[in-house]
Amino acid sequence: MAIPRSTWGLLLAAFLAAFSGLLVATRLGARPPREAVAPEAWHALERNDPEQAASIFKRALNEHPRDPMLHYGAGSAAYALGRTDAALASLKRAVDLDPDFADALALLGQIAYERGDSALAIRSLQKASSLRPGDRRVAELLDRWQRESSVHNSYVEKPIEHFRILYEGGAQQTIGDHVARVLEEQYGRIGRALNSFPSEPVTVILYTNVAFHDITRSPSWSAGGYDGRIRVAVGGALDSSYALDRVVTHEFVHAVVASAAPRRIPAWLNEGLATHLESSDHMWVSEALRKAPAIVPLDNLVQGFGGLDEQSALVAYAESETAADILCSQLGSNLGSFLQLVGSGRSVDDALMEFQVQPNAFHAEWRRRVGMP
Ligand SMILES: [Zn+2]
Repeated sequence: MAIPRSTWGLLLAAFLAAFSGLLVATRLGARPPREAVAPEAWHALERNDPEQAASIFKRALNEHPRDPMLHYGAGSAAYALGRTDAALASLKRAVDLDPDFADALALLGQIAYERGDSALAIRSLQKASSLRPGDRRVAELLDRWQRESSVHNSYVEKPIEHFRILYEGGAQQTIGDHVARVLEEQYGRIGRALNSFPSEPVTVILYTNVAFHDITRSPSWSAGGYDGRIRVAVGGALDSSYALDRVVTHEFVHAVVASAAPRRIPAWLNEGLATHLESSDHMWVSEALRKAPAIVPLDNLVQGFGGLDEQSALVAYAESETAADILCSQLGSNLGSFLQLVGSGRSVDDALMEFQVQPNAFHAEWRRRVGMP
């Protein structure tokens, strides 16, 4: 999500929750089967210990290499660990072995969608839906993906080196070219800062405001989001090139964070890095903090900012930017490795100590800068 500076009254944030892959995954994803081989692996998944689950599934697969449930379990664990390549391979294997495996098809569709492979996503969900005609969640998701796909099919696709830019033809061509140029310019800078580069081209979809809100179901004040694809509403709120550049750069930072650490990154860290790296103009931060009616502890900013009202969100972005600024200077070139450690399940404080940064020093500096007693 990105917040505006050019149009102060307007909050240019996207409601990731409205189209968040993670939310869907928890609904469609791993369901511990009854009488499964390796029940302890399913229990490990249930108590959110995917490392343990993955290693048990792996051992069990050595003994039962043709058990589709075990491949499904291995895929679920890999997905929870952010290893989407491995997750896709395991789920494809599960579906090869049992073509009527609805849960595996649904999760395969979800991950394919997150990876930008809409064709595989829709195909898998269609099959899952036909196997479970009464499942409304699957039917609704399928309907949304199909509508989205038909909108995108009418768009022009401009593949460039590290991105696929989709936009309506005609008048949007100039904006499409501009966004392509900005993103290619930012690709190296952001990738180096976080020591990570997306393994595949990142899909960027430029919508008219109406199409953006129709597809993302985000509130009228939002203008950008990242959910495996960068989605930006062009025109309207983003009529200035500066605001557009900042929002697409911000969303690209989320794409790079997702490639470095697909899971477990607290919202303040993710949004802080995106806000910190989106541009060099951070004058607004101290202004927002000075006017803030209250400062919220970072621990309360772990989930997304989508539920916050406009004023609270502005303060949350300012607090997060401050934290990211401090981390960047304290961690230096270790920032990317730090991010990966947090993504692998270590706490922020733990990960800081790994790089000889005292957590107390970080928190004290943050409290001083945000004006928290
Ligand atoms: Zn953001």
